[in-house]
Amino acid sequence: MNKIENIQMVDLKKQYQHIQEEVDQAVLDVIRSTRYIKGPVVAGFEEDLANYLGVKHVIGCANGTDALQIAMMALGLEPGDEVIVPSFTYVATAEIIGLLRLKPIMVDVDPLYFNITEEAIRSAITPQTKAIVPVHLFGQSAPMDAIMQVAKEHNLFVVEDNAQAIGSDYYGQEKTRKAGTIGHIGCTSFFPSKNLGCYGDGGALFTNDDDLADRIKMIANHGQSRQYYHDRLGVNSRLDAIQAAILKVKLPHLDAYCQSRRKAADHYDAAFASIEQITTPARSSYSSHVFHQYTMQVPPDDRENLRSHLDAQNIPSMIYYPVPLYAQKAYAPYWEAGKTLAVTEKLCDTVLSLPMHTELDSNLLEYITGAVTAYFR
Ligand SMILES: *Cc1c(COP(=O)(O)O)cnc(C)c1O
Repeated sequence: MNKIENIQMVDLKKQYQHIQEEVDQAVLDVIRSTRYIKGPVVAGFEEDLANYLGVKHVIGCANGTDALQIAMMALGLEPGDEVIVPSFTYVATAEIIGLLRLKPIMVDVDPLYFNITEEAIRSAITPQTKAIVPVHLFGQSAPMDAIMQVAKEHNLFVVEDNAQAIGSDYYGQEKTRKAGTIGHIGCTSFFPSKNLGCYGDGGALFTNDDDLADRIKMIANHGQSRQYYHDRLGVNSRLDAIQAAILKVKLPHLDAYCQSRRKAADHYDAAFASIEQITTPARSSYSSHVFHQYTMQVPPDDRENLRSHLDAQNIPSMIYYPVPLYAQKAYAPYWEAGKTLAVTEKLCDTVLSLPMHTELDSNLLEYITGAVTAYFR
């Protein structure tokens, strides 16, 4: 087979080209309007996203990490309070907890779905526990019914880190809801490579609680209640109007984008079904999968060789994530030296993510699966 050049983990260029006229016009309109900060475009996007998600309030902010920080600040947590987080996640989830002098309590995850589990949460609860941050990793919701039940029993807040699962449906016992709208606050990121990405940095918080929404807006705006009156400590974190304009154009495509990703995942699954060394990503019964990443597991001894083999054919692959959160230097103060969590350790040794985006055609998919299959045969 001829080599294909320029394969990327995420192809943002082709995706842009499909919506180029509309995006260019929307950006130009903002520039010409001179309403660069807040204004009607930001409000319009927040409203569109709230309607799409079926949530009462969407509040834009500067990035997904800020969203998590603002959420923690809005909940009024105090230094020393414990916040339960998965040990297998992107660092942003725990970073802001440490930054606010709260204590991240890192727990193990589910070996099939990579998400935090009810059992792990229950065994980590102490009298100091104040909140849980489930991360809907790789595009699939954590088991929210069970998590909300534990939270209710122990009077805990739930902040969903939905940076990787926007658009995903959670099939709850009561009804189906969008991931990120079930806990007290949901947080997301519009980093370019996310399922709904802008062309720079951006983020948002979701909530159905009017008081929390007011507090979030105030905190994101220097703790200001009205101009030049500051009632609490806040931050400066805004979604730019130019980014909101781009997101407003892209939001109507989100379901189709998720569908393209699912189709690519189906293709990978089918191609790898007969390769016993590959464990394809499991899909839970309680959540749709929007495949922010296609993350399979391979034997640790094969992983680097497979990566080199793919690399030689211009196929990128990534390890999300190579190191447990608790094994990161910065998190040593929150961890008992030498302690490990079995599932997290195993995942860090075996996971491998293949290119996943909205522009993977069958030609490209055949090329990638052909290369993976050839390695194992
Ligand atoms: C991307 C991401 C974030 C942070 O988003 P930024 O916009 O880059 O700050 C937080 N949590 C998870 C799980 C993410 O994937």
